[in-house]
Amino acid sequence: MNRLVLSELTSPEIADYLSSIELAIIPTGSHEQHGPNLTFATDADRSYETGKLLAERLFPRVLLCPCFNYGVSHHHMAFPGTITLREETFIGMIIDIATSLKQHGIQKILLVNAHGGNRPALGVAINKLKFELGLQTAWIGSGTDLSSDLMAQKKSAEITGHACEGEVSQSMYLAPWLVRENALAKGALKDTLYKKRPWWGQVPWSFDEITENGALGDATKASVKLGEEITNLVVDRIEAFIREYFFEETITK
Ligand SMILES: [Zn+2]
Repeated sequence: MNRLVLSELTSPEIADYLSSIELAIIPTGSHEQHGPNLTFATDADRSYETGKLLAERLFPRVLLCPCFNYGVSHHHMAFPGTITLREETFIGMIIDIATSLKQHGIQKILLVNAHGGNRPALGVAINKLKFELGLQTAWIGSGTDLSSDLMAQKKSAEITGHACEGEVSQSMYLAPWLVRENALAKGALKDTLYKKRPWWGQVPWSFDEITENGALGDATKASVKLGEEITNLVVDRIEAFIREYFFEETITK
């Protein structure tokens, strides 16, 4: 056994490892449309597969919990098949899971997120975990958000970030079963309020207001090689963050 993935273990097996486990990772994804390019499980599987790589690198100090296969996706509901949680449900699930983990003696929790729509709720959730449950916690991105400097060099379209070359590449490398290779299409963008958003605040927008086909960027430029680069960078950065913040190690950069 070279990784601790909770759903792959039995209760006696996890009991033997509890004293070595310092941190639990909860991957958070979504069940939402990704245009013609990727299936509904994309964000969930990307966060879970990233979590598995981290659990391998940090064995036996990290325990990977089951993934959130649903997230906050109101802004994708105009596209058939998307399922959304209310923010209250999402936050409540995180609190209930963290409370269970705390009962088993785990005091540190990292939420590894692969879906932008979850971010506001994650911010509320980590405050509750810290100030109401007394846990050491954080949330961190695991996709193109955490590799935005690399993507700035590689991206081929003005607006990327969903079912784009970055997300499709990462999926090709990490979870190829998600990708519809023969249907890959560029985002069909509309000229809309997304471009007119204020720098000082926020406009709530829906994906059907900005794209005809549910995608951004240009998925036809995706490659396994770019996916490998994104994944390695993301996993290196999350590992460094865990070592510094949760394990209090000094990292030389
Ligand atoms: Zn996605």
